[in-house]
Amino acid sequence: MARLRIALVSEHASPAALLGGADAGGQNVAVDQLARHLAHLGHAVDVFTRREAADAPAVVDWAPGVRIVNLDAGPPHPVPKDALWPLMPAFRDALLAFIVRDSAHPDLVHGHFWMSGWVALELRRALGAPVVQTFHALGRTKRREQGDADTSPPERIAVETAIARAADALVAQCPSEREELIDGYGAAPSRVALVPAAVDVDAFRPISRVAARRRIGLAGAGGGPVVVYVGRLLPRKDVGNVVRAVALLRHSTAPPPLLLVVGGATAAPDPVATPEIGVLRALAASLGVADRVRFAGRRQPAELRYWYGAGDVAVTTPWYEPFGLTPLEAMACGRPVVGAAVGGIPYTVVDGLTGALVPPRDPAALAERLGAFLADPARCARMGRAARARVEREFTWAGTAGRTAALYAAVLAGLPIPEIEATGRPAVPAPADDRFAIAAHSGWP
Ligand code: UDP
Repeated sequence: MARLRIALVSEHASPAALLGGADAGGQNVAVDQLARHLAHLGHAVDVFTRREAADAPAVVDWAPGVRIVNLDAGPPHPVPKDALWPLMPAFRDALLAFIVRDSAHPDLVHGHFWMSGWVALELRRALGAPVVQTFHALGRTKRREQGDADTSPPERIAVETAIARAADALVAQCPSEREELIDGYGAAPSRVALVPAAVDVDAFRPISRVAARRRIGLAGAGGGPVVVYVGRLLPRKDVGNVVRAVALLRHSTAPPPLLLVVGGATAAPDPVATPEIGVLRALAASLGVADRVRFAGRRQPAELRYWYGAGDVAVTTPWYEPFGLTPLEAMACGRPVVGAAVGGIPYTVVDGLTGALVPPRDPAALAERLGAFLADPARCARMGRAARARVEREFTWAGTAGRTAALYAAVLAGLPIPEIEATGRPAVPAPADDRFAIAAHSGWP
């Protein structure tokens, strides 16, 4: 098997960050898991990210075969990601200097997020290594959904367009992203591979509700119905929509449903550090359900299984969602998901089989679906089992890393991009080239 040296560039999202705050969410998890599983396939992976702490070591041996390289570019403290663009030339220079100093010449560069895509193309210019790009989120979608509230730099969409047309291959994590890349950005369909994000099926696994509730200190709530939200607390996640739905359901069961809200900038829920908590608390109070909404603060992945498991059903109804890892995590924990039919959610949640899809910004529709689920525990259990099975089949990081490695191999061999789908294997048969042995090791027949 050819051992590749792969550079994952992820300017703002380090695998080492604490998750749940404003700028640390799905991308951090995805880069971390992809790196670990690529290394597991035998590759050497360097994750390049921006130094956010003066005392962070320059190089961290993060996992077997994976290093995190903290590059000096701008101040050594957290900077909001929308203010990072001017720092990218310094980031590029620091990255190139590291590669020369360390003799860590990559065979392939994989950019994550638009600014890293620009850096990746700069590396291609300097080093000749081909570029694969995953955007994780797209500026055109954000502009459309957020309008004036979008604080992205004005250059974002033009830079994304250039990357979409120049990269050797693009990874779309779900069909709606693929469409946006092709229709909105003019990417050549033959260069866009559909490779979904995934979930750590060992860390996120089913647990009984009773054990989970005891573990998180909710035992006193007894057998009452519980709805759980996990994710960053941003306006676009529209947790207010869930609070409104729970308020509509307050007379439907005795006791009324309890909503657990996990996420925020700090471990203890703090409306100063996380203004959205204050907004949601005020909303719950105004709707008479202040005592039915509990904020858990930011929780780290190892604990999340208990929070998902405490719920009868998980919920997420953002205005838009590039992919959405939290629905997959809930499914892996054996819980059905009621989700908004936006972005990646209709791809992961199968309406009527592993949960339900509702329109965004529609508390009545959400209340109706949630009410039906909470009234039927047997159906929740059945859907939870189907959800877990779907995740094991389609959305494991081992599978996703295998598909990504097959994509790298095709790019390096100058072959057509395999039509990689969540359900299957590369459409291009693996030739007897050494590099393709990597794909063969990923579990594909
Ligand atoms: N997350 C976490 N702790 C929290 C809140 C969120 O670990 O308190 C994780 C969550 O489990 C998920 C990620 O942050 O893996 C959020 O990813 P998602 O794709 O759902 O949304 P994004 O944050 O990328 O918008």
